[in-house]
Amino acid sequence: MSSIIQLLPDHVANQIAAGEVVQRPASVVKELLENAVDAKATDIKLIIKDAGKSLVQVIDNGLGMSVTDARLCFERHATSKIRKAEDLFSLHTKGFRGEALASIAAIAHMEMKTKQDQEELGTHIIIEGSKFISQEVAVLPKGTSFAVKNLFFNIPARRNFLKSDTVEFRHVMDEFQRVALAHPNIHFTFYHNGSEMYNLPAAGSRQRIVGIMSGKTNEKLVPVNEDTEIINVQGFVCKPEFAKKSRGEQFFFVNDRFIKSGYLHHAVMAAYDGLLKDGSQPSYFLYLQVPPNTIDINIHPTKTEIKFDDEQALYAILRASIKHSLGQFNVAPVLDFDRDANLDTPYHYKDLEGETPTIQVDGTFNPFTDDKTNQHYSKSSSGSSSGGGSGFSSGSGSGSGSYPGYNKRVEPTATWESLYVGLETDTIESSPFTFENEEVTSSLFNDNEIEQASQGIYQIHKKYIVSPIKSGMVIVDQQRAHQRILYEQFLLNMTVNQASSQQLLFPLNLFYSSDEMTLIEELKPSLETTGFVFEKAQTDHVVISGIPVNITESEVSLVIEQLLSDLQDGIPASSYSQNDTIAKSMAKSLAVKTGSYLTEKEQDNLVNGLFACKDPNISPFQKPTFITMRVEDIDKKFAL
Ligand code: ADP
Ligand code: MG
Repeated sequence: MSSIIQLLPDHVANQIAAGEVVQRPASVVKELLENAVDAKATDIKLIIKDAGKSLVQVIDNGLGMSVTDARLCFERHATSKIRKAEDLFSLHTKGFRGEALASIAAIAHMEMKTKQDQEELGTHIIIEGSKFISQEVAVLPKGTSFAVKNLFFNIPARRNFLKSDTVEFRHVMDEFQRVALAHPNIHFTFYHNGSEMYNLPAAGSRQRIVGIMSGKTNEKLVPVNEDTEIINVQGFVCKPEFAKKSRGEQFFFVNDRFIKSGYLHHAVMAAYDGLLKDGSQPSYFLYLQVPPNTIDINIHPTKTEIKFDDEQALYAILRASIKHSLGQFNVAPVLDFDRDANLDTPYHYKDLEGETPTIQVDGTFNPFTDDKTNQHYSKSSSGSSSGGGSGFSSGSGSGSGSYPGYNKRVEPTATWESLYVGLETDTIESSPFTFENEEVTSSLFNDNEIEQASQGIYQIHKKYIVSPIKSGMVIVDQQRAHQRILYEQFLLNMTVNQASSQQLLFPLNLFYSSDEMTLIEELKPSLETTGFVFEKAQTDHVVISGIPVNITESEVSLVIEQLLSDLQDGIPASSYSQNDTIAKSMAKSLAVKTGSYLTEKEQDNLVNGLFACKDPNISPFQKPTFITMRVEDIDKKFAL
C-alpha cells in the first residue's frame, strides 16, 4: 500500500495553530500588547473597531525590527526571546513561543510597519492569510505598528462563533486592563470606534489601578508589602466593607504577567476570614515577584496559569501579609454580618443575671369545672414577662375542645416586642410584602381553604411558614415563595411596560468599572421597564433618579451588583430572555431570606401572594416553593 502521511503545508499548520492562540479579538489584543511591552515600549496605543472584529491595531515606540526580522517574525517558532530550552527558566519576557504573529497572520489581513531607532528607513509589510502581499521600504517613526483586520476572514465557522460586540468588547477590555495594570510605568491609550476609552500616563501602581477602575477606588485600597527570600508581594487589597458580589476586580501578577490561580485566591480569601459578608468578593491587585526559575509558565497555551515550586509557602506568606495589612489599617474589627442587630439584647438586659424560666402550675385547676372558676389564674398571669408564664395565659376560647392552659399562638409581650426595636411599623408597611393585588386566583386551594389558612399562621425557624388548610397543612419556604412573587411582578411590569417608579429626592450616584458600565448601558432599556430612571450617561458612574416601587433605596446597589454578577457571561440575545434574567436576578436579591423574622401580616401576605401567582409551585430557579401534608398522612405517622 502506498504511503499516506504528508507534511501539512505551512499555511494549514498555521491555521491549526491559530486555533490555540487566537480565540477572539481579545487574544489578538493580548499578543500584540505583550509584544509591544517586550519591545520595551514606553508608549502603547490600542485602537479597535467593532470590538476588534474589524480592526485591532497596536502602535508602540519600542525597539522596532530590522528588515530581516520584519520578514521572519511571521514564521512559526520565530522568536528573539529564547535561544535554548534552558532559557525558559529565566524568562523576563511575555512571549517566547514565537507563534503569535504566525498564527494571527494565518487568519486575518495584517499590516505591519516597523523601524529601529538607529535606521533611516523602516519596513512596511502586508500579509493576508499567511500570504505575503507586499514588502516596501517606508519612512516611519521609531517603533512598530501592527494592524489586524477582518479576523477569521478565511474561517467563517470561527467568525460566526464570535459573541456580540458587547461581549467581545468586554474580553478586549479585560486583556487591556490586565496588561495596563501589570505595567503602570508604560503610557497606554485605548480607542474604540474612534472614542477614547483610556488615556493612562505612566504612573505608580496605585494611580494606575485608580485610573483603570474608577475615581472612588482610591479610598478603598489598603497597601500590602512583604519581602521575603522566595517572594516579594506588593500591591493593594480592598477594605472589606467595599467587597462586591461579583469577582470582577481580582488580579494577580506574577513577574509582571497576569495569572489566574485558584490556590492563591484562596489564600487571599483566608486573610479576609470573618470580615466578609457571605459570598461577597474583595477586589485585589497583587504584584508578586518570584525568581523566574521557581515557576513554570509553559503549562497553559495562553499562559494565564503557572506552576510554582513552593506553593504552600507562597500561600502562607500571602495570607499573612494581607491579614497584617488589613489589621494595620484598622479595617479588621469583628464584623459579624450574620448577626441581626434587631435581635441584640437591649442594654439593660446585658447586666442582668440569666433567669431560669419557671412553670407555674395552678394546683386548684380542674378542667371539668366550668370556665369561670378557672379564670382567676389566667388573669393573674397574662401580664407576666417570664417566658414560661406567658404561655399559660388563657386562649381566646375559640377551640371548645382545647385545653384551657394551651394558647395557640404566644402573643408577644411588651418585653418581647422591645427586642424588635427598629422594626417600626412604617418600615414593615413599606416592605415588599404589601401586595396591591391580593386577589387569589389559584386553583390549588378553594377559597374556603385559604380562608382557613389565614386563621392560624406560624413561622418556624425563620424559614418556613406553616398554616392549616382544609385537607391538612401547607409548609411554605419563605425565601423561594417570595422569589416567585417578585419574579412574576417584575416580569409582568417589564412585558406590559408600565411599572411605576418612585422619584428619589436625591439621585443616587453609583460607581462602576468601565466594563460594568458597558453592561449597565446595555441593560438600561430593560431596567427602565422595571421602574428605574437613569439620568444621562457618565463615564464611570450611573445617576439613578427613580427606582421601582417595590425596592428601597438601600437595596439598589445590591440589585445592580447581583445583576452584573449574574450577567458576567454575557447578556442573553433575545429580549425575552434578557427580561427573564433580570427578573430572576432582581427577585433573588430582593426576596426575603431564610433567617428573617416575618410579622404575622407579612406571613399572611406572603402566602396569599404566592397562591395568587401564575405558577406558585416552583421558584424561578425551579425549586419547590411549598409542600402540603394531608391529615391522613399525619394520622399515619401517629399510628405507628
Ligand atoms: P514571541 O513573542 O513569542 O517571540 P511573536 O510571534 O509574538 O512571538 O513575535 C515574534 C517576534 O517578533 C518576537 O520574538 C519579536 O522579536 C518580534 N516582534 C513582535 N512584535 C514586535 C514589536 N512590537 N516590536 C519589536 N519586535 C516585535
Ligand atoms: Mg509574542
